Amino acid sequence: MTTWFNETLYSGFRQSHEIKKVLFEGKSKYQKVRVFETGRFGRMLALDGVVQCTEGDEFVYHEMLTHLPILAHGKVQSVLIVGGGDGGILEEVLKHKSVKRVTMVEIDGMVIDIAKKYLPKICGKAFADRRTNLIVGDGAAWVAETEERYDLVIVDRPDPVGPATVLFSKTFYDNCRRVMQPGAILVAQNGVPHMQGPELTDAIKLFQKIWAHSGTYLAVVPTYVCGFMSMTWASDADITDVDPRQIFARYDRAGLKGLRYYNPEIHFGAFALPDFVARLLPAPKAARKPAVKKKAAAKKR
Ligand code: SAM
Repeated sequence: MTTWFNETLYSGFRQSHEIKKVLFEGKSKYQKVRVFETGRFGRMLALDGVVQCTEGDEFVYHEMLTHLPILAHGKVQSVLIVGGGDGGILEEVLKHKSVKRVTMVEIDGMVIDIAKKYLPKICGKAFADRRTNLIVGDGAAWVAETEERYDLVIVDRPDPVGPATVLFSKTFYDNCRRVMQPGAILVAQNGVPHMQGPELTDAIKLFQKIWAHSGTYLAVVPTYVCGFMSMTWASDADITDVDPRQIFARYDRAGLKGLRYYNPEIHFGAFALPDFVARLLPAPKAARKPAVKKKAAAKKR
């Protein structure tokens, strides 16, 4: 008899994954933690019944939330990861030799423990890397108190429920800005616009109060169902305005060939927004530069 894991994150809709084997089932102080062997996506981590990552498609999300901002910035040495208990973001960040130190603040030690034990294909040896500074604690408290400063802050948060709710607040973002070096970048997972549009609008509204530039870019993560996954960014620099030759050069220098999703073409393409997503971004940041300067194009004809 086939058993199924049903995710009912959105009312009136669910996704189901065949469970080949339950590898872990437990309840931490914060959430229900489960790891399954699934029929199509390999091992899957679910927290409170919501898909967090799978071996089959984690590379999309983890590559896009790390390599894009790191190459856009160009000189990232110190990184803060808030959340990210499965270790996928940490593993990608550590691929950059320019990165000297990564502090990762994950509230639930159980997630880290099961990632090490059941999800080595996602976290690899990242937790044991000498550059990793692993903190089990609340990311919101960390950014309010730490004396550390970062070139990149990656908020690898779940949906705004339970202990993660605070990671969507203005206080949290203000404190993120407090710990960011000049020119630093913040990126955050911001849900699936088709189903969670208001979360994207709300985040950009808050970013616009704190940073000079902000926006979103998109990627398609099959198990984050219902279309594009939005990744929001904020910085005092406009990260969409980097000379493409720079991105290609940094990509080559970083030795990133062999990734499975991110590449320089995807880097630029990810910022192209369908109108229904662009309309979720509050003006004036939503104003898009015309893709091709109309006058120049007319002259060529
Ligand atoms: N990639 C996933 C997604 O897009 O939904 C999220 C990955 S990761 C599993 C999310 C992590 O954030 C979880 O391990 C959770 O325990 C952690 N988390 C939730 N609230 C937190 C907080 N306030 N501080 C630090 N970590 C938190």
